[in-house]
Amino acid sequence: MAEARTHVLVINCGSSSLKFSLFAGSDRAAMLSGLAENLGQTDSRLILKENDAKKTIMLDGGSHDAALRRLMAELQERGMLEAIGAVGHRIVHGGERFVKATRLDTEVLAEIDALSYLAPLHNPANVLGVKVAMEVLGWVPHVAVFDTSFHMTIPAAAHTYAIPKECRDAGVRRYGFHGTSHGFVAREAVELLSLAPKDHGLVIAHLGNGSSATAVLNGESVDTSMGLTPLEGLVMGTRSGDIDPGALFHMSRQDRLSIDDLDSLLNRKSGLLGLSGLSNDCRTLESAASEGHEGAILAMDVMIHRLARYIGGLATSLPRLDAVVFTGGIGENSAFVRAGTIARLAVLGITLDTDANDAMFGGRSGLISAADARPAAAVIATNEEWAIANEARPYIGRSA
Ligand code: ADP
Repeated sequence: MAEARTHVLVINCGSSSLKFSLFAGSDRAAMLSGLAENLGQTDSRLILKENDAKKTIMLDGGSHDAALRRLMAELQERGMLEAIGAVGHRIVHGGERFVKATRLDTEVLAEIDALSYLAPLHNPANVLGVKVAMEVLGWVPHVAVFDTSFHMTIPAAAHTYAIPKECRDAGVRRYGFHGTSHGFVAREAVELLSLAPKDHGLVIAHLGNGSSATAVLNGESVDTSMGLTPLEGLVMGTRSGDIDPGALFHMSRQDRLSIDDLDSLLNRKSGLLGLSGLSNDCRTLESAASEGHEGAILAMDVMIHRLARYIGGLATSLPRLDAVVFTGGIGENSAFVRAGTIARLAVLGITLDTDANDAMFGGRSGLISAADARPAAAVIATNEEWAIANEARPYIGRSA
């Protein structure tokens, strides 16, 4: 009999990359993590992070299959393979069909594949990752965890676009993303702020390369900034967020841009990158802005303005606002973005504790407003991988 299978492997598969984390028992820190990148290209490689050590293994043009097989060999060498009891897969779009984490089988996989029309950039890659992982690790349960599920509690008034019925019937509605992170942070906030689980309201801002804000009432999502796709809402690294659809008609007619041109323009060339003409990276822009770079200053201003506006709007979906919570790479690390945002939220009665704000970075969680102020402002470090592992863990030991 093999030793107890207590580990959960979490996989997040993109079209040319595959991120992974291995969690032992309920430990919040991954015992091993890393990514395979440039998959299918000549310089494809696997990078393993263990404790503070980093190991890079060239895959010589290998793709997802080669990366996972090599990862399995590395895990076996460390005696970790036998301990894996379940695999959790991050799946971007679950449509209206998947309201919670779901055990994967051929039927479920086909349903996720069929939702690819809603997330053409993400779901096909997620499905590929599941297929390869189910081949390589066929003896354990695989569980799909959806970015959209947490938002399936959003009422119709908030998730419906004002378009004709035939379009709405075809699934064109707001779904929302980053649900695993918003759900995790919402649960942590109840602890951190000693909130009544069935009587509280939060606005959570997840700010990373992709960003979204969500109103959470008593643990449930009631409104969010992202829509049918992860393009709507806040200003992001390379995504525009909100823009008048009329501007697209205008650019199409004026500059003869095709649908694919516009897709690429708004998804890859806009946001902080497009505004600054310099970078999609908030850290780079903060330092350029402090040296007077006009594009960087504009990018930060537009991002912060939009964020504050969304937080204010989302608060109207709540009967009470206990706290605004920041998370994600920018939310957890940028005192500048948080201070700028909170300065614009005076109308909600939120005030900043500047010292606490300046001290909050590098994965710390805590209040950045005065101890007894309400609404409070807080930073909570997200841990999406661990949250996915948590969803998959109950399936350990369940037979096919
Ligand atoms: P992803 O959405 O890809 O998971 P992250 O959540 O890691 O991204 O966030 C990446 C963003 O966080 C980048 O814009 C990066 O510049 C920003 N960031 C990380 N550290 C800092 C920092 N110290 N100050 C400002 N921004 C930071």
